[in-house]
Amino acid sequence: METRAWVWNGSLVPELTSLELPELREYDVMVKVRSIGICATDLHIMNRSVSFAEPPYALGHEAAGEVVRVGAGVTRIQVGERCALDPSVGCGSCDVCLAGDKHQCAHSGEYGLNRSGFWQEHVIVSEKNVYVLPESIGFDEASQAETIHVCLGGMDKVRLRAGETAIIIGDGPTGLFFARLCKIMGVSRLTVAGTRPRRLELALAYGADEAINIIEQDLLSVAVQQSYDVVIEAVGKPETIQLAQRFVANRGRVLLFGLPARKVEVDVLDLILREVTCIGSANAPQVWPRVIALLASGSIDVKPMITNRYPYEQLDQAINCAMSGGDETIKVIVDN
Ligand SMILES: [Zn+2]
Ligand SMILES: [Zn+2]
Repeated sequence: METRAWVWNGSLVPELTSLELPELREYDVMVKVRSIGICATDLHIMNRSVSFAEPPYALGHEAAGEVVRVGAGVTRIQVGERCALDPSVGCGSCDVCLAGDKHQCAHSGEYGLNRSGFWQEHVIVSEKNVYVLPESIGFDEASQAETIHVCLGGMDKVRLRAGETAIIIGDGPTGLFFARLCKIMGVSRLTVAGTRPRRLELALAYGADEAINIIEQDLLSVAVQQSYDVVIEAVGKPETIQLAQRFVANRGRVLLFGLPARKVEVDVLDLILREVTCIGSANAPQVWPRVIALLASGSIDVKPMITNRYPYEQLDQAINCAMSGGDETIKVIVDN
């Protein structure tokens, strides 16, 4: 069966074409993609600031849709059910996969990153990549389950305790989801540092006590006065990573989450003497059921984050919108 697909051919403009779907195997599920989130990672791939991507293929790792076919061995998922898609794949049988960390498997991969992804009208994935949604979660919100999952995985790794203080550096969708998660988890003082007023307003609405615009305010003077038990770096620029180090309290933890495009210099002696823990975090496949539960309970309201919507036929324009990314644009969604 053929399906329509937006394929990245190495340029900044994807192309609408059609692709032959692979055969539906015993434990596979065919999903009609109904909502796609455009992510900064997609843009980094298209402008060649990450090294792992080799065109041509369909990008897209944030999506939700409707089950249209299931393999003969699939019993947990029924045709007609609505679902969110986990893009991460592993071999399924090594120690790492069995421990629930398939993204760290020696044979790991990710739809839309190093194999054809969710910018397709239909996709075939393993049933292990499908999370059935309750009626209360819409497709657009569910497309953001992937983004929330990476944030929740980071929160687990940083082992935040209720009553601690935290700062998030970065006001992108992940920075904002981190803010909401920190609030839910009982941070006593929560600061978000960013550059875009509309996003900083949303950070406050999500529960931040303070939002600092680092264009208007000299953050280094703030850093000298305040320190935080937990610092979440969600930008990935050398200067923001160095800033994270300045903000962290003695014996505090820094969550390294933003993706730097090149090597970054840090003051290792300072990290040693102040006993700072730096934690890297990428994916976290085991948190998916909790992400669905957080969305279903209303603890995280994705709607204010979604600022722009495009129909599937205009995915190229959605990319354009995300790339030009003015202050009014937070999350761009493509619906089908
Ligand atoms: Zn993403
Ligand atoms: Zn494995």
